[in-house]
Amino acid sequence: MDDVDLARARVLAITGAGISAESGIPTFRGPEGHWRNLDPMKLATPEGFAENPSLVWEWYNERRENIRAAEPNAAHRAIVDLAHGAREFLLVTQNVDDLHARAGLPNEKMVQIHGDIFETRCSRCDFQGDVAKCERCGALMRPGVVWFGESLDPRKIDIVENFLAEDVDLTLVIGTTAVFGYIIDWATRNSRRIIEINPEATGLTNRATEVLREPAAIALPRFVQNLKAKNAAAAMNKYETQ
Ligand code: NAD
Ligand code: ZN
Repeated sequence: MDDVDLARARVLAITGAGISAESGIPTFRGPEGHWRNLDPMKLATPEGFAENPSLVWEWYNERRENIRAAEPNAAHRAIVDLAHGAREFLLVTQNVDDLHARAGLPNEKMVQIHGDIFETRCSRCDFQGDVAKCERCGALMRPGVVWFGESLDPRKIDIVENFLAEDVDLTLVIGTTAVFGYIIDWATRNSRRIIEINPEATGLTNRATEVLREPAAIALPRFVQNLKAKNAAAAMNKYETQ
């Protein structure tokens, strides 16, 4: 298959918890996913919060601390490199951490489709602020993330849909189990080439053009370096006389 000419390419990257695993932030489904023997798949729900809001807040406060203490890794930096080289670039991340931003990816090139763990918003209205109870309606404040069973922010969906209205030359899917239908749809729609980076098989594996079964911090920087080197060599060849 022809290599992508990055400077002319529209590139989409989709990331999940796996890209932050090597920064020390556990995934939900991995071996360190449980917290105090509790299942995140139950804690990260509206039902879990209704049942025990202070327990859910304790978990989120610990996760916030853990993320503050973590550093972006080589995979987060490779995404920034890719974004700078591409004609058009969008990152759709399911991560609620700020490691993509702290690696230097500009806000306008990124959509945090599952929200931002550092935001606090009202559980009933749209009030935001770092208080325990909403100053407008009195309901409990909650983390600004999308819980299992909740809908995505339509403004964020629009950004992704607009990007996908034109063909995508290269789609990278990194560190996500791709269990959500919209992730598989976005990864495959109008894409000419889909590369999966994940040590394990996922719901997207059989749709991928190429699969790299390695940790993101190893496979992604190498992939970006190789692509840039091939592009540079092709540019040189253009001017060779023979
Ligand atoms: P997920 O469904 O995205 O699964 C993690 C995936 O990462 C798995 O497929 C696993 O094989 C892969 N993986 C593990 N280590 C990897 C590595 N070093 N390199 C590449 N891939 C690797 O995520 P989840 O943990 O099941 O979480 C579900 C949702 O919960 C997320 O979509 C997100 O909203 C939230 N979450 C966010 C964070 C974060 O912000 N860092 C962490 C945990 C959960
Ligand atoms: Zn409110």
